[in-house]
Amino acid sequence: MIAGLRRIHEMLQQTRARWGAKWCVVVLLMPPALFGIWYGGVRAAFVVGLAVLLCMLAGIVPRVVAREPFEWFHPGAIITGLLLGLTLSVDTPIYMIIVGALVAEIAGKYHFPGLGRNLFNPAALGRTAVALLEFVDPSAYGAPSADVVSGASALFKEAGGNIRPAMLDLFMGWHPGAIGETSEFVLIPMFILMLGYVVLKRHAALAMIAAVPLAALAFPAPPEIIGHAPWALDPLVYLFASNTLLLATFFLTDPVTTPNSRMGAILFGAGAGAIGVAARRYTSIPGPEMYIVLLMNALTPWLDRLFLRESSTVTTVASEPLPGPDDADHDPDMPSAGQIPRITSTARLGAFAVYQEIVARGNRQEVVEEIRASQLSGCGGARFPVHRKWEGLLAQPGHRILIANGQEGEPETFKDRYLMQHHPQLVMEGIAIAAWTLEVDEVIIVTSAHSPASQRAMQHALEAFLQHPASRSVPPPSVVVGSPYYICGEETALIEFLETGRGEPRLRPPLPIERGLRGNPTLVQNVETLSWLPSILHHGAGWFRGDSGGYQLVSLSGAVRQPGVYEVATGTPLSDILKSCGGLPMDQEPTAVAVGGPSGGFLPLDRISVPFAPRPLRDAGTMMGTGAIRVLGDNDNLVEEALAAAEFFRSESCGRCTPCRVGTSELVRLWRRIADGEGTTEDLAQLHEVAHVLKSTSTCGLGVVAASRILSVLEHWPDQVAVVSPEAVL
Ligand code: SF4
Repeated sequence: MIAGLRRIHEMLQQTRARWGAKWCVVVLLMPPALFGIWYGGVRAAFVVGLAVLLCMLAGIVPRVVAREPFEWFHPGAIITGLLLGLTLSVDTPIYMIIVGALVAEIAGKYHFPGLGRNLFNPAALGRTAVALLEFVDPSAYGAPSADVVSGASALFKEAGGNIRPAMLDLFMGWHPGAIGETSEFVLIPMFILMLGYVVLKRHAALAMIAAVPLAALAFPAPPEIIGHAPWALDPLVYLFASNTLLLATFFLTDPVTTPNSRMGAILFGAGAGAIGVAARRYTSIPGPEMYIVLLMNALTPWLDRLFLRESSTVTTVASEPLPGPDDADHDPDMPSAGQIPRITSTARLGAFAVYQEIVARGNRQEVVEEIRASQLSGCGGARFPVHRKWEGLLAQPGHRILIANGQEGEPETFKDRYLMQHHPQLVMEGIAIAAWTLEVDEVIIVTSAHSPASQRAMQHALEAFLQHPASRSVPPPSVVVGSPYYICGEETALIEFLETGRGEPRLRPPLPIERGLRGNPTLVQNVETLSWLPSILHHGAGWFRGDSGGYQLVSLSGAVRQPGVYEVATGTPLSDILKSCGGLPMDQEPTAVAVGGPSGGFLPLDRISVPFAPRPLRDAGTMMGTGAIRVLGDNDNLVEEALAAAEFFRSESCGRCTPCRVGTSELVRLWRRIADGEGTTEDLAQLHEVAHVLKSTSTCGLGVVAASRILSVLEHWPDQVAVVSPEAVL
């Protein structure tokens, strides 16, 4: 039993991590659908299958017409189709299913200009369209429907009122009704699992479930029950035999049409439950719950305004940051010193204060403009302007995904792990800001596979965030452990890893913002980059840009007094950074400085006055990369260090392209011969040729930089390598 539960847990975790929360919902909706089909037979299979197929087609046809990329199996369309199918009965005529699916997928997913999203729950809207058709054309079911005549929907077949189903039958689903209701006892565990794994609107769903039986008890029974059979006065009947759970599932699976504050969500769910019960008792409207859901959907913007405004100013939020993970919970091998006052300057405002303020202001374009003005560029190594990536993503229609990249597999770099472990709330706030601004539909936080402490810290921050009322304005993120392989720090390789489990870069175009994870527009943004957003948006672009052009974090290690993470202004001379960040140790003479991790070359000491900025560093023969700075002392052997870097790249090459697969091995072989004093001038010439081929023909950056450290040793410390002529060896 426990092993079985563990297996289910792993399966759901893997599904969510690899395919996303929406596919997890699809998986959880399948058992009730299959049970309903088993109970209802071929016709039930036809109804559910047709609803799903039509929703999928309705979702892709506009894309095909517009010649835009599309997914045949889009989980959002499948969820809508399954929910719609589950609320239909085996007798539902085909034309009603067609109308229901089209309304759900096209009208239901229409983004209202003022809201920037759809207003109504798509499946509820589709089912309402079917209910209206049932009302105007009851004869479509054959004989005029007793349900329609009596005012009870198909969900209460025994509308004559004389037969009260046994409670066990109700619980097991052994009673006629919608296809989903015939699987009540399967629906219950799936519903509970959804609460645990993919819950999006927990408070709304639970409030509705609580409100339905309470309302059934509280409302006085009218002298003549208009809408229902007498047995339907029983609160438990409302819970088990009505579509309460099914409707609550709608809330769980819909991230946008229910309120974003906790209180708003509770009122939404309670209102839907109570008004639904009242409508069943006092009206003869068939299946009134669907209309009530739409009514509550229409009230959602108002509930948001009411409750989000109340807690929207910086002064009303908690004055203390949320508690972080245990202070001792840090990677033991990671330096814990750090001076990063600017990036963390908003911590005093309270938990997620800047995010909350921005959501309350509601001006996404203003955020994009501020980031553009700040000239913030990606801190993961590529240094690509952030606003250009954002604008590229915003131009893409469809299911947008944000991946917060905390992979950080580069040796000598630890600033992302430092942020995640010491300031996880800041990272979470940056993620939330980007998710809201870019209106993404899915957020995935990838943490380093080498750092369980980062994963725990981010999980903790995520849980704290989900408790916050403003968290409802973005889809709930999931924390995923990244790949142990360095190459997966590269955005396309990370996407490939999340999809297939293999870490292999993809060819571009298309760019990930056009076609990324599962074919959807995807923004992969480094953890540090995201963490800068709160302070930039709070203090303004000018504050960040200053005279220097911005700030970044550096991971300082090696022969220095105080290794750690430091904040530096772009353009600061490297020598000043070394002085101000703890200084050099007394017991060692520095010999070289490595910048940019193994991807960058060694700089001799006479060059460390170079400004710490991408172009000057490149001109000096190295690179800024992820901002790693390592000082080598007289205990370090540069030739061995260069060999270690080459071996690292050889073992991390994904092996897809021959120049890199063969070239990195050749590089190691030749350099090892030279390091051992056995190298010849021919080996050296061959090594230069291999390095050139790697640089000019590799598909991704790994191959391009694999020889950087070796070449820098040859350029600046030629006396450290001795080669002889081939004849001398003979
Ligand atoms: Fe893989 Fe190397 Fe080719 Fe990059 S350059 S794709 S790491 S084989």
